[in-house]
Amino acid sequence: MTIELVGVVGAGTMGNGIAHVLAVRGWRVLLSDVERRWLDRALETIAKNLDREVAKNKITVADRAAALRRIQPTLDRAELANCDFVVEAATEKFEIKSAIFRELDTICRPEIILASNTSSISITRLAALTKRPAQVIGMHFFNPVPVMKLVEVIRGLATADETFETVRDLALKLEKTPVEVNDAPGFVSNRVLMPLLNEAMYAVMEGVAAAEAVDQVFTLGMAHPMGPLALADFIGLDVCLDIMRVLHEGLGDPKYRPCPLLSKMVDAGWLGRKSGRGFYQY
Ligand code: NAD
Repeated sequence: MTIELVGVVGAGTMGNGIAHVLAVRGWRVLLSDVERRWLDRALETIAKNLDREVAKNKITVADRAAALRRIQPTLDRAELANCDFVVEAATEKFEIKSAIFRELDTICRPEIILASNTSSISITRLAALTKRPAQVIGMHFFNPVPVMKLVEVIRGLATADETFETVRDLALKLEKTPVEVNDAPGFVSNRVLMPLLNEAMYAVMEGVAAAEAVDQVFTLGMAHPMGPLALADFIGLDVCLDIMRVLHEGLGDPKYRPCPLLSKMVDAGWLGRKSGRGFYQY
């Protein structure tokens, strides 16, 4: 089946990035969210990010205008019935995603693939909520989507090979590099990354070193573009805590215990960049 119209559910940080890359490469996009202001903000962000691509001569002014014309915002999820592929990028809460998957399953044609951009929620579990578990898959983009090359493609237990191949081909057409992984808590990216960030937080909590010193060890000694604590602030400390909880519960090993300093900072509303304070002040 040819994919002409792609539904993107959730117009936040990731949803607007996914809509951006699809529209630049020629797909029509139906961008759905629950409030007009999030859709307006997403369109503004996409327009600004496209301006940057024009300034860098990656696209022309005409390409920019064409990409913007291809994105249609909507508050009416019933319109997703017309989509040939849907990628969900809504808030990382199981209750929210489960309601969306149940609804998409009733709205979308039975052969349509439903992909999730979740960072940690089980694809197998989301698939089991639908009558089309073979067409449910993880399509995990990275932030910022227009820049980062990786798409972690996650096979749920029931995901069909054909579904995997369609998503892999779509990622390639978006000029991304798909990497195949199986469904497990945190997949590969967050299972390996988050314990590093969590351990860096323990080092600060135990007074082994200050945040700046921990980060310097990684930027100067290991050529990481960002130290683990600056990265945690960038991702959002609430998001880091949610993912550590998924790893801890899902894998049942105490080595994934969220750092108490992380829990305390989230309780204080210190969520990193987005709240103006995390391991650093913004
Ligand atoms: P965000 O908070 O920026 O955006 C989420 C959006 O979903 C919001 O605009 C919200 O209004 C919308 N939403 C909530 N319920 C909805 C519903 N029922 N229907 C439609 N829209 C709904 O979050 P984000 O950072 O863009 O994350 C989205 C997803 O991408 C999450 O699953 C997250 O784990 C994943 N992810 C995030 C990152 C990252 O670095 N931020 C990276 C990779 C994956």
